[in-house]
Amino acid sequence: MQFFFTCLIRVLITSNLLGLAHAAAGQIVDGHFHIFSPKNSQKIDDEMIKGPVSGEDAVNLLTSAGVEKAIVLSAAYLFQSYEDAKYENDYVEREAYSQEGRFIPFCSVRLGASWALEEVERCLTKGSMKGLKLHPVANSLDLADEESWKVLESIINRVNQLQSQLHRTFPVIIDSNWQNRKITLKFVHLSAKFPKLKFILAHALSFDRMDLEIIGFYYQALPHLPRNIYVDLSAIIVFYEGSPDNDKFLWVLDKFGVDRVLFGSDYPVFSPQTALASLRTYKFRPHDLQGILGLNALRLWDNEGAF
Ligand SMILES: [Zn+2]
Repeated sequence: MQFFFTCLIRVLITSNLLGLAHAAAGQIVDGHFHIFSPKNSQKIDDEMIKGPVSGEDAVNLLTSAGVEKAIVLSAAYLFQSYEDAKYENDYVEREAYSQEGRFIPFCSVRLGASWALEEVERCLTKGSMKGLKLHPVANSLDLADEESWKVLESIINRVNQLQSQLHRTFPVIIDSNWQNRKITLKFVHLSAKFPKLKFILAHALSFDRMDLEIIGFYYQALPHLPRNIYVDLSAIIVFYEGSPDNDKFLWVLDKFGVDRVLFGSDYPVFSPQTALASLRTYKFRPHDLQGILGLNALRLWDNEGAF
């Protein structure tokens, strides 16, 4: 009898059924949620950002939507001043600490800032930060340009070094609204160059969401490629809700790899509640939906066993 139970537990662990059971219990993760410190939010010139968002505000919104955890992004990439950026990254870390396990905190840096590499190192070596957010378009970085691409690659290279030095996983969320197929292809090459890094293309290429089929094509044609590109559906799921193209989009996500697709709200652009209601209008298979809602995000740190 004891042998039977030992075998059963082993099967459950190796097949990850315990994890799935956990997700079935309702573990929903918002993979893209912004918070802003009271001190710095007034310095941000962006009409979608209407004021500070504290950890407590975030938890209230997540709880009312039935969302258990969120990848919480620092707005440090919006600041020129290193002091402001440091303050903002530290704010996210403090709020994550005070909300006891509800947040998966990500720091961010401004691409092209003289302090960017220094801050990547400071932020990721502190201990509790789980990843990095980059926003090339907001930082006026045209990734089609070789010099700009080198700026991005130098940051990626540093994250990769820190991952192997610290034996940690630091996924990099990159806002992907560049609207240029050549840049999307550059990311396929970049992901092959850094096979141990995980890249999350925020907003799933945004208005070019169907271009994800190109990445899917590369994966199918070149099976040796590391499948380390993920996407989050933040903002676009709401925008495209009810679109006549959504059956095709689901096919594209299948080709890309639906097990690397994350739910997200992009709060304050949309609330977690609105984003969840939109997501549920898409005809994902139940098993795929369960992954998108939380499990795919949590698997990013599988080898750390952190959650
Ligand atoms: Zn965002």
